[in-house]
Amino acid sequence: TETAARLYTEEDPLVILSSSSLKPTVSNSSSAWLVQFYSSWCGHCIQYSSTWKTLAQDVKDWQQAISVAVLDCAQEENFDVCRDYGIKFYPTFKVGTNEYYSDREIQSVRRLMVNILQNHTRLDWPEHCPSLEPLSSVELLPLLGQRSDHYTAVIVEKPHSYVGREVILDLLQFSGVEVKRALSTDLPLLDTLKITDFPSVYLLHPNGTHTPLHVDKRLRFFFSSSLRMLPGVQRRHKSDSSSSSASQKGALPHKQNPEPWRDFDRSKVYTADLESALHYLLRVELATHNMLEGEELKIFKDFVTLVTKLYPDGGSVVKLMETLSDWLLSLPLQRIPYQAVLDLVDNKMRISGVFLGAELRWVGCQGSRVGLRGYPCSLWTLFHVLTVQHDAMPTALDNTGLEVEAAPVLQVMRRYIRTFFGCEECGRHFEQAAAASMDKVETREQQILWLWNQHNMVNYRLAGSLSDDPLFPKAPWPSPSLCASCHEEKNGVHVWNQENVLRFLRHHYSASNLSPQYSL
Ligand code: FAD
Repeated sequence: TETAARLYTEEDPLVILSSSSLKPTVSNSSSAWLVQFYSSWCGHCIQYSSTWKTLAQDVKDWQQAISVAVLDCAQEENFDVCRDYGIKFYPTFKVGTNEYYSDREIQSVRRLMVNILQNHTRLDWPEHCPSLEPLSSVELLPLLGQRSDHYTAVIVEKPHSYVGREVILDLLQFSGVEVKRALSTDLPLLDTLKITDFPSVYLLHPNGTHTPLHVDKRLRFFFSSSLRMLPGVQRRHKSDSSSSSASQKGALPHKQNPEPWRDFDRSKVYTADLESALHYLLRVELATHNMLEGEELKIFKDFVTLVTKLYPDGGSVVKLMETLSDWLLSLPLQRIPYQAVLDLVDNKMRISGVFLGAELRWVGCQGSRVGLRGYPCSLWTLFHVLTVQHDAMPTALDNTGLEVEAAPVLQVMRRYIRTFFGCEECGRHFEQAAAASMDKVETREQQILWLWNQHNMVNYRLAGSLSDDPLFPKAPWPSPSLCASCHEEKNGVHVWNQENVLRFLRHHYSASNLSPQYSL
């Protein structure tokens, strides 16, 4: 049936193969392919699909060495190829024509992938797989004190540990750091570097110095994300010719960005970004709608009301939004020309000394060049702030007409994005997510977490895409350096501690964490 056939969709972080694409994809590839042959009518396979998607997400950054795919043997066009490959049971895992067995836990399949790669590297296949073998002190100690154009990270671990090999693969698509592994049995190395705990990461800096890398927890996710955040380390875009120095130059803020760089602290939220969001929204995004009427007008009014009620920290923004809101509500009109909104924002308010910054001033949302970050970043930020402010509010959004449904902030956001947000593709994705799960949100806490989770889904999807700013690579957020207690590992797989995430979000997006620096 249609639903069974769509166990996997194009949105999933894996490749859906068919009889016609299997051979060309796999045989012309510079990477290995782990293909799960499944059957869309098999109960196990249906249940297993969510695990397989989690696995595919978990190893998405290993793609250059090994890619994850599926092929549905229940589709008529695939009958022949499944017979040729001798598939008798579902699911079956294959790399090339070899069949592999493991239990189906994510950790076991991941280790299987590592073993496959390690056993193949000696044959120089796949092309892009770095060596996964441990190095010895004889090879590593001479590197100490040497200058280089990149970091070298040495993971020292017990012989049976997989962390080192997993981190090597996690960093495969990143330039600026090379990861190697060594074993805890290498006593001269341990003596020289004074390493006593395993696994540990030792860092050789480009300037020739060397230090241990501090992490809060000795877990794969903590190592990988700390290494990715080292200065100068960035994701190679698919179109890059992997020349790391060229792509790093492009990322230097002062090279291509005409505006002066504003230093900022990633653990803060800047009112200048929120004000710029509203500035852009009112003066640019809305301007494409000459006439606001009917449903559009209602959505705009609701947005203004929401911001008026929930925007933290009083000040001129709230005064402006209040004036706008009062004006909109007092008008008996069914249609309002956009120009009238603009006149109000620009003129009447200036007379009364209430106005929004007359220019865009991105701070936490600065991009390394024009066209990256900015408005969409600030819109996410604004809505996160609103969910947290709603949660902190002692009373309901009474007499606004908004609190009649659960999760009013999400509902207003959903309608705003659908109706006004300039990026259509974004709107379509957001609408899909909202349709799938927004109605399950019942409390204010769930509202905060739903938006956080949805934003991370977008981050996962966009990591490495063209809209990804090399200076601010998309990654699960908050990073371990912002919130170590938000991250845990269960059966070898990264999991969030949602209670701590909620606590973190309530702090991060609270009024007390807003910085007025660079604001008017
Ligand atoms: P952003 O993702 O914009 O994040 C802004 C800031 O929010 C970050 O700097 C960080 O401090 C914080 N943050 C990050 N993750 C979280 C989280 N999970 N919870 C709370 N705070 C967080 N672009 C596309 O190309 N395709 C899309 O389908 C798409 N959909 C979008 C849908 C919506 C509703 C919006 C508002 C934007 C969408 N975008 C999409 C744009 C994209 O998500 C980014 O906003 C844009 O690429 C700029 O990225 P950024 O690096 O500034 O970080």
